Amino acid sequence: MKGQMNRDFGTKKKLNFNKLGSDLMHIIYPNFCLICDFEIQHSPAAICPICASELHYTNYENYTEASPLDELFWGRIPLQATFALLYFGEQNATRKLLHQLKYKNRADLAQHMGEEIGQRILQMEAFKTVDALVPVPLHHKKEFIRGYNQAEELAKGIQAVTNIPLQTEILKRIVFTESQTKKGKLSRWENMQQKFAYDTSPKHDFKHIAIIDDVVTTGSTIETCSRMLMEAYPNAKISIISLATAN
Ligand SMILES: [Zn+2]
Repeated sequence: MKGQMNRDFGTKKKLNFNKLGSDLMHIIYPNFCLICDFEIQHSPAAICPICASELHYTNYENYTEASPLDELFWGRIPLQATFALLYFGEQNATRKLLHQLKYKNRADLAQHMGEEIGQRILQMEAFKTVDALVPVPLHHKKEFIRGYNQAEELAKGIQAVTNIPLQTEILKRIVFTESQTKKGKLSRWENMQQKFAYDTSPKHDFKHIAIIDDVVTTGSTIETCSRMLMEAYPNAKISIISLATAN
């Protein structure tokens, strides 16, 4: 009995010591939520419990039938698989998260979310053959102002978890002059296509390319990028990985 009590006492003392150590760590290195910037107490989590509870996960990876994101591209482009981690609504935390990525210089948040995506797609059979991660390019002027391309930072996080190579040089965003785009004469898709260019001498032989973006709304950017990659790599399957979707 005496031994039992001593053992309990020992455990308790050890736990208290750990808590003290963790509190000291928080004083020395306070841990702030990547979304709301409030300090997270007693936890090494990157996102606080309140923000985490407000993120609306699609869980599309658990669907046995087509997801609304799959359906968005039906009749437009043949996709191997689609994935979106979060649902993007009018007033939810996902909106705030995307705002942080776009305007608040949060490459760390993008990479963190990329790692979370990576963990999920590692479990998905449809993504097992992916051999290239291609982020939707940002125009270099925008990238210069923002300091980074959020789709590329997401892709870095996905790469860190899955080891799938990141390819940033095969698809570029370009700007043609007004006369080149023959304004008003082209359809919307053709107009979009004028904004991208791909390497016309592809050195790679990709089997399955995943296009990475931060948010899918109408899907027109993804559609254009897919068409360009299908032209450049006719033997490759194309899939979509997005942080969020409005669909
Ligand atoms: Zn938070």
